[in-house]
Amino acid sequence: MTAFKKLGLNSEIMKSLDDLGFTEPSPIQEKTIPFILKSENDLIALAQTGTGKTAAFGLPILQKIKANERVLQAIILCPTRELCIQISRDITKLAKYSEGLVVTAVYGGEKIDFQIKALKRGTNIVVGTPGRVHDLIRRKVLKLQAIKWLVLDEADEMLDMGFKDDLDAILTETPKTRQTLLFSATISKSVRLIAKQYMTDAEEIIAGEQNVGAEKVSHEYYIVGARDRFEALKRILDYLPGVYGILFCRTRRETGEVSDKLKQVGYDTDALHGEISQIMRTKIMDRFKRKQIHLLVATDVAARGIDVSDLSHVINYSLPGQDEAYTHRSGRTGRAQKSGVSISILNPRDAGRIKRLESIIGKKFEYKKVPSGEDICQKQIDNFFAEIENTKTEEIGNERYFQEFSERLKKTSKEDLIKYFIANKFSRLASACKNTRDLNAKGKAVNARMGSEDGVGLKINFGRKHGLDIKGVFALINSNRNLKGVEIGKINLMPEYSVFSVEKKRADEVIKYLKGTNFRGKKIDVSKSNMIASYAGKRRGGSGRGFRRKRKEPRKVR
Ligand code: AMP
Repeated sequence: MTAFKKLGLNSEIMKSLDDLGFTEPSPIQEKTIPFILKSENDLIALAQTGTGKTAAFGLPILQKIKANERVLQAIILCPTRELCIQISRDITKLAKYSEGLVVTAVYGGEKIDFQIKALKRGTNIVVGTPGRVHDLIRRKVLKLQAIKWLVLDEADEMLDMGFKDDLDAILTETPKTRQTLLFSATISKSVRLIAKQYMTDAEEIIAGEQNVGAEKVSHEYYIVGARDRFEALKRILDYLPGVYGILFCRTRRETGEVSDKLKQVGYDTDALHGEISQIMRTKIMDRFKRKQIHLLVATDVAARGIDVSDLSHVINYSLPGQDEAYTHRSGRTGRAQKSGVSISILNPRDAGRIKRLESIIGKKFEYKKVPSGEDICQKQIDNFFAEIENTKTEEIGNERYFQEFSERLKKTSKEDLIKYFIANKFSRLASACKNTRDLNAKGKAVNARMGSEDGVGLKINFGRKHGLDIKGVFALINSNRNLKGVEIGKINLMPEYSVFSVEKKRADEVIKYLKGTNFRGKKIDVSKSNMIASYAGKRRGGSGRGFRRKRKEPRKVR
């Protein structure tokens, strides 16, 4: 808690942070809170979703706002209804001890009359989506002339969603004296343009590198033929009982199809896409938040603003059209200091994109094999025994039924009981799992990615101590015009040196063109090394988490 206090926050705010159990500020909070408390200058903050942005701008505004004056002083614009509700809820919680402070959320898809009434009662902070805010300005219900703070949250997404005109109209209604705080996961050209048009001498704060969310996400991928994609998905899900996550599809149609097929085979899932009514969307989201649905099948647009902080997995049934969108997708997991996994199911022709994604994310992606039926069976047996071990049984010992069962099973041998269990719990699963087809695609692109015998290990005389990181290794290769398109496999960074694998047929070229060039002013030395071979085998096993199907015992033998 003292860490928050050091940032300059007062005792009321410290009390609400205590209630919320926030003990340490996140990197973006550490940087923005003191800045906003002390300065009236504009701010551009680069931070991913789920890194604690709401408190990063919310806390200093709450400390400076005049809660006893029922005048609108701050407006927060965000891309979606869900995010809008989430932000206003979070700020209300942060303002628990800020007496008299009123926060009002205004967003589309809901009756405007209630929102107009709420605004007329008077409010200190408005959180809104651009379309609805613009509408309320036109109706002369929302007046922004006394605004001191304007927050643009997820500015990149607002622009991607086509809110530029609404933003232009809203921004011209605000006074020049306002402080503009822009939060964005990426600084695209259009974000730069907004900043140039509406902000002056903005301070830039980047919390990207230490981003708690992204740090906690690991990335895995499978390569299968297009026809085997759904079968591979099923096997991956069966191997992970307990998955709670979002499955991304590219189109509305695919979303519906995949969700329907999953439902047919017993998974608890539902689809979310642009053509679903607001009422249905709210219902689906409520069920998802209550974990009655474990897997939400969604398009990128429909998933925007979903703010569920404990997703275990994000699954890319198809990779997004734009590489940048992968960052948004994978950022939906690994939030609130929890770890998460982003899984991609790729076509062999998409395998090359992994390299680009690795360089954007700055992390290695792990190639995984689609589990065989045997693997799944074994995993489910392990889970079954883990479940037994973790079931609390102490009280059952005194129950009437325990006595009856004990009596009636007296003559049944242990062997017979075991046989009964196998017949009832596993025989159908076992026969379904027998002799399953290998779904893993084969071929050159796949092998190169796997770091198989097609790969060669190279040792370079730079390591962590010299500031080399995974992005740096990619940059060394990619920035050399003679080495365009070289496939990079495993990378192991040591303090003094690093080892990475490249495709065999281009290894000599890599040595030739890297040797003698400079990294941070010092000559590069690179040579073949067999050390990478041992690293290639050092892959992690499957996650211990699991996916629960709708039926408790999906493969029960009748
Ligand atoms: P946000 O990026 O604001 O949506 O926050 C993501 C999640 O992290 C939310 O569930 C917050 O309640 C939580 N959170 C924000 N700041 C902290 C903090 N300093 N310590 C722990 N949790 C936090």
